[in-house]
Amino acid sequence: MRAHPAGPRHGDLVTDPGAMVAAPTAEAVDALAESVWPRHCSRGADGAMTIGGVDVRDIAADHGSPVYVLDEVDLRSRAREYASAYRQAGASRVYYAAKAFLSVAVARWVFEEGLGIDVASGGELAVAVRAGVPGDALLMHGNNKSMAEITAAIEYGVGRIVVDSFEEIARVASAAADAGVVQPVMVRATVGVEAHTHEFIATAHEDQKFGLSAETGAAEEAVRRIAKLPSLSLVGLHSHIGSQIFDSSGFEVAAGRIVSLAQRLHEEQGIDIAELNLGGGMGIAYVDSDDPINVADMAAQIGRIASRACADAGIDEPTLAFEPGRAIVGPAGITLYEVGTIKPVELDSGVVRTYVSVDGGMSDNIRTALYGAEYSVRLASRSSSAPPMLCRVVGKHCESGDVVVRDAWLPEDLAPGDLLAVAATGAYCRSMASNYNYLTRPGVVGVRDGAASTIIRRETMDDLLGLDTHA
Ligand SMILES: *Cc1c(COP(=O)(O)O)cnc(C)c1O
Repeated sequence: MRAHPAGPRHGDLVTDPGAMVAAPTAEAVDALAESVWPRHCSRGADGAMTIGGVDVRDIAADHGSPVYVLDEVDLRSRAREYASAYRQAGASRVYYAAKAFLSVAVARWVFEEGLGIDVASGGELAVAVRAGVPGDALLMHGNNKSMAEITAAIEYGVGRIVVDSFEEIARVASAAADAGVVQPVMVRATVGVEAHTHEFIATAHEDQKFGLSAETGAAEEAVRRIAKLPSLSLVGLHSHIGSQIFDSSGFEVAAGRIVSLAQRLHEEQGIDIAELNLGGGMGIAYVDSDDPINVADMAAQIGRIASRACADAGIDEPTLAFEPGRAIVGPAGITLYEVGTIKPVELDSGVVRTYVSVDGGMSDNIRTALYGAEYSVRLASRSSSAPPMLCRVVGKHCESGDVVVRDAWLPEDLAPGDLLAVAATGAYCRSMASNYNYLTRPGVVGVRDGAASTIIRRETMDDLLGLDTHA
């Protein structure tokens, strides 16, 4: 399985730890680990979870379930931390990767906290535009941008278009010429590094759809073509190596390779690279055992790696740029579900696994089914001191792979009507949500200082039927 920017590569290696480890204590099953849960999430006096000072029971009562909840103060603080740590490490620009989750409110929050926004489609661009984020703060990605998307980006004055193919160089050049502007572009280079969590794979070439190879001469050819086109100006090179990365070792190999491409461009074409965008992919904790290095250390290490690579190559140090997505919004969000049915199933081993069905599933969180992603789940509407039971939290879709949390411990007294909270669902859940089985996609509620407000409203049956021309 190849890595996807939004998830792990080794879905096939996910085992069944719940069936093998000893049961945790009731306290452990009630606890909200700081590394996993939003910063303003705790249990109130009666044991129910609060987030941003709002009781989750009130959120579910007012907004329905399932519902995504975003801790605004947490999200803003992470945006600020990334902006400041990576600026300190030599970045002139830090973009929020919109694909993790985007809405008008969130676009404004991250922009107010000092981030630009990286968009990868006309739709993401439209949201950023509606939020009033200026073009200069935007960067556009995509391996097959349509002419309409390219034109919209140029008309709005998007500060960087990252070109991904030779066809696209010609398309952006022609759209910019038609608009009478010189469009700043970057070349997306692939460097044969694929990173995920504790490991990365380094190969000579990349077997994937993104970018132009730094090793075969394709990236150099792209730079040569851009240099000849008066409606384009090359600002730099771009490399994104993967997602959910826990340390800087993959960046080290990637930076070495991209800097050696910059050195060849300097020597062979007399072109100096002003900006080096090293992409996103900074990892977060989904479960207690996840242990990504902290923001400041990661930023400082990557900054030093880039400086050293440039010094070794004897080139002037370009300014850096980054595009974290998951790390900004992921930890700030949770999903609330209501428990519907509880079904104990005896396994061949004699172990009993209890299937807990909730009122959502793979339509609001596809990551478990798609990549074997792991999540933490807690009883949220109350606390319990009942002994833990081994559970699998599943959705309501017509697929046996419709799993939200593969292995979880929940209190034995769990009952229909209880609310469950799943942590770290701020990234790649709402943005990848579907209407499978004609479920309405959940709304997104922002919380801060004891108040909740709708960021994206829940879909209605009318929204769904409104698309059907025979309805
Ligand atoms: C997905 C992606 C990102 C963001 O990745 P995260 O893991 O969410 O930080 C940044 N840049 C590019 C090019 C991407 O494809």
